[in-house]
Amino acid sequence: MINWQPLTGEFQLWQDAGITLPFWWRDDDAIAPTTQLETLISIATDLNIPCHLAVIPKFATKALAERIATTYLIIPITHGWAHENHAPEGQKKAEFGATRPIEDCATDAIQSLQHLQDLFGDQLQPMFVPPWNRINPDLGQHLVAIGYDALSTYGPHKTRFSAPNLTQINTHLDPIAWRGNRSLVAPETLIAQTVKLLQDRRLGHADNTEPLGFLTHHLVHDAAIWAFVKQFLTIMLEGPIKPFRYGRDPLE
Ligand SMILES: [Zn+2]
Repeated sequence: MINWQPLTGEFQLWQDAGITLPFWWRDDDAIAPTTQLETLISIATDLNIPCHLAVIPKFATKALAERIATTYLIIPITHGWAHENHAPEGQKKAEFGATRPIEDCATDAIQSLQHLQDLFGDQLQPMFVPPWNRINPDLGQHLVAIGYDALSTYGPHKTRFSAPNLTQINTHLDPIAWRGNRSLVAPETLIAQTVKLLQDRRLGHADNTEPLGFLTHHLVHDAAIWAFVKQFLTIMLEGPIKPFRYGRDPLE
């Protein structure tokens, strides 16, 4: 049994203070319809929460676009181009890092947007998610020129705009123990991390206008991760939050 009390206790303080938390969900690395994607879609549907699906353009299939077209709760966004590492050996992985010529990065970002617009049409929202959440900051102005208007990486954003007209909307919580057994991080650790993120916002140490992002990777979830994802989203939706949806809401 997971003890959610630290989180629900923090929610109470938010309620007492009359503040709400913008909250969003991003899931990475989609290329095709899979049973794992069906699990993701069923959670989004059961809880009626939008999920922003970061799609790898180079490998994205028409079948994925056809599946996504049937639900307005899944919002396709751009996840790099090929999810290919261009960082020199020994450096942290990046497809759009500072060591790669910026013209090459821009060329990839152009074909990413064109390719996904062809596949997903109006459903695609122009948010760019660099693989491994790393990007050369100088690429921001190029992304705007190409047609993106938001950038998403990991960790509390430092500024609301990473370049003029490029909103930075990051993710902040990742339930996967990437450096451990690749199963679920200890739930008490995840809950403590969430409480800390909320406290920082409530006390004015972090920007509460940035939607708090929950980051998942549906293709690698085991049963423990899926169970946590569903429970965590359920608890969050019972709290003082406003689910954030990037782009136009087709129901409004
Ligand atoms: Zn990825």
